[in-house]
Formats: sequence, structure tokens, C-alpha cells
Amino acid sequence: MVIAIDGPGGVGKSTVSRAVARQLGIAYLDTGATYRAATLIALRSDVRLNDAHALVKEISRHAIGYRDGSILLDGVPVDSAIRGDDVTRAVSEVSAHPGVREHVVGIQRAWVDDNGGDAVVEGRDIGTVVFPDAAVKVFLTARPEVRAHRRAHDAEAGGAAIDEVAAALAARDTADATREASPMRQAHDATAIDTSDHTIAEVVAMIVALVAEPGTPDSPDDGPSDAQEA
Ligand code: C5P
Repeated sequence: MVIAIDGPGGVGKSTVSRAVARQLGIAYLDTGATYRAATLIALRSDVRLNDAHALVKEISRHAIGYRDGSILLDGVPVDSAIRGDDVTRAVSEVSAHPGVREHVVGIQRAWVDDNGGDAVVEGRDIGTVVFPDAAVKVFLTARPEVRAHRRAHDAEAGGAAIDEVAAALAARDTADATREASPMRQAHDATAIDTSDHTIAEVVAMIVALVAEPGTPDSPDDGPSDAQEA
């Protein structure tokens, strides 16, 4: 069973997804980390980020892996490197190329297969494109100021001021939601959860309840989501 958890940055996606996977005793895949690893490959090469063909060729020469919550590049953990400012700034451009997405989505699907088809998979297009038949689909949102505060505490913010973090998040949202290939959006059959006024434990409990009873009509949606507005 695949549980697809999509949404923009700073909504608590990773924390919630990891906790849901732990509670259910199944695997967890952070697909953002796979795009970040692809971006790291690009930045470490001399390939231009707008050269889709060369980019796919270069990325395909390397092995992107994911094990025990750690992202591996050619077998070496790169968890800190993929959270660097350079990667964060470039990742939306790299992941907008359809060829890059096709390659990276292949890695994601194979990973879920290798885990017996049971996983919590978080990203931007999991419920719409990568696993459109996922048993449970959730789209997390939060108010922009809440997201900026949360993201400011993440390693990748590197101590940046709140308004800087908010502007960077907004720019990435726009790029991710307006690209042609698999834009970030809520699947028509996803349950929207606004996490702004909920604890992590509450959001986890809502999702676990959905898993226990897929198809349960949504109740916690208390506001328009970023993606719906985009
Ligand atoms: O989730 P995270 O912030 O690490 O994602 C980094 C970037 O990877 C996103 O801004 C987006 O450009 C890309 N991404 C994507 N599709 C996914 C997951 C992430 O395009 N499923």
C-alpha cells in the first residue's frame, strides 16, 4: 500500500511522513531528496542547468539511493550536501525538466517495489503522477507565515531571516506549481489537511485514521491550499 503525502515546503511533510511510516511499520521515501541528489550531481559537474539532454546524461551516470532515511550518491551519504543553499536554489530548475523527472521517478518507483510496494512517499506529485493509484492521498498545506517559521528552523535555512525564508519558499512554490511537467497540485481524490494549527501528532493521527479507513470523507480542511490558489 502506498500512502502519498504531497504539499509545498515547510508544511511539516517530512516529519509527518516519517512518523506515519514508523507508526504503520512501513518504509518512508522522501522524493524531494532524490531531486536534490540529482541537483547535487548537476552542480558537481560542468553541465549547464538549462541543458536538459546533458543533465539527464550526467545524472544517469550516477547511482541515487535511499536507505534508512539517508540519501546516497554512488553509495555515499549526502544528507548535508543536499540541504545546502546552492542545491536549494537550483533544485526547482533541475526538477522541472521532463527527462530528469522521468529518470528520477523511475528510481522512486523501483525503490517502492524493492520495499514490497508498501511505503509512505512524500513529494509534490506523488498522488497525481508517481503513484496515481495510491491507497491514501494527502495534500498538506499551512499558512505562509507558519511555513516560513517552520522552515527557518530547518538545517537548509542556515540561520536566514524569516522574510528571506518566506520569499525563497514562495519562489520555489511558484516554480513547482507552474512548471509544465508534473506541477505540484492536489490530486482530485486527495484529502487536504491544513497543518497550521495542529501538532505533528494530530496530523499523524489524522493520516493514520485515513489509512485505517480509506475513502473517509475529508474533515480537517479549513482553508484554501497554496496549490489550489496557484
Ligand atoms: O521537499 P523538498 O523541499 O526537499 O523538495 C525539493 C524540490 O524538489 C522541490 O522544490 C521541487 O522542485 C522538487 N520536487 C519535485 N517533485 C517531488 C519532490 C520534490 O519536483 N515529488
